[in-house]
Amino acid sequence: MTTVGFIGLGIMGGPMAGHLVKAGFDVVGYNRTAAKAQPLVEAGGRGAPSIADAVRDADIVAIMVPDSPDVRAVLAGEDGVFAHAKPGTLVIDFSSIRPDVTTELAEQARAAGFRLLDAPVSGGEAGAKNAALSIMVGGAAEDFAAARPVFDAVGKTVVHVGPNGAGQTVKAANQLIVASNIQALAEAVTFLRAYGVDLESALEVLGGGLAGSAVLNQKKGNMLSGEFPPGFRIELHHKDMGIVNSAAREAGVVLPVGALVAQLMASALAVGDGGLDHSALLRGVERLSGREGT
Ligand code: NAP
Repeated sequence: MTTVGFIGLGIMGGPMAGHLVKAGFDVVGYNRTAAKAQPLVEAGGRGAPSIADAVRDADIVAIMVPDSPDVRAVLAGEDGVFAHAKPGTLVIDFSSIRPDVTTELAEQARAAGFRLLDAPVSGGEAGAKNAALSIMVGGAAEDFAAARPVFDAVGKTVVHVGPNGAGQTVKAANQLIVASNIQALAEAVTFLRAYGVDLESALEVLGGGLAGSAVLNQKKGNMLSGEFPPGFRIELHHKDMGIVNSAAREAGVVLPVGALVAQLMASALAVGDGGLDHSALLRGVERLSGREGT
């Protein structure tokens, strides 16, 4: 039986770890806030009180934490994975972080005798709960092949996109597309409401044409109800807009829409909506149009 140490059992990591148990892995989970390991234990996994305990006997270590400094701390920190896992362990980082940080951590991993894949995911909370994630993987082909059973347990579309860092670069592009898509949907919703069109009917028919999208399918409920429980928090998408805009700048690529949507995301954070789902970009459009809560 393959043992997986899973670090970060939040909105995404929690259900992903549960799917690994269902697929027959021995899963030892660690979460900073211990209570969040409970669902994994109830699903047949084991809870660990520290990263060291979660990874000591692991064949594979999976990580799902928010940002670049968090991944750095979990991997390279004093009490981290590199200090406590067995040499040769395969590390799969599912978090969405800066491509340059991934590349640097992969080099550090190699120097310490580990193998690392960057494997950020897309598909939202629903994708995690339904084991239907899209997974964009960067790293060595043989490590990708070794990790395939883990990927197949949590994802539907799994693609090896290149060397370390390439997975994160594809994820940055993903976040540019998703944010722009949500912003366009939010503007359409506000426009339709201003004309008193029945929104449910309008979104149903829009969903069947070229305007249809996974964003529309997954986010229309929030747009209709005006409630935005996360999901994917604005503060995390703000992080991702920073990643894509700075990486584009470094490459000399101009992203006019990406820059604008990043500002709108920053505005949502500044007014206190950082803990809401990213579909709360709708609230920003309503504010700009003087139509709050309509
Ligand atoms: P989340 O619910 O906040 O979960 C993050 C987990 O990481 C929490 O359990 C948190 O512990 C833990 N954590 C945070 N900082 C840590 C640190 N320094 N050391 C150890 N553990 C730490 O976030 P999420 O929505 O699952 O997102 C995780 C990653 O997936 C992010 O990179 C995000 O961009 C990406 N992602 C999210 C979605 C989505 O729809 N939510 C979709 C695709 C990708 P505590 O419980 O103590 O806070």
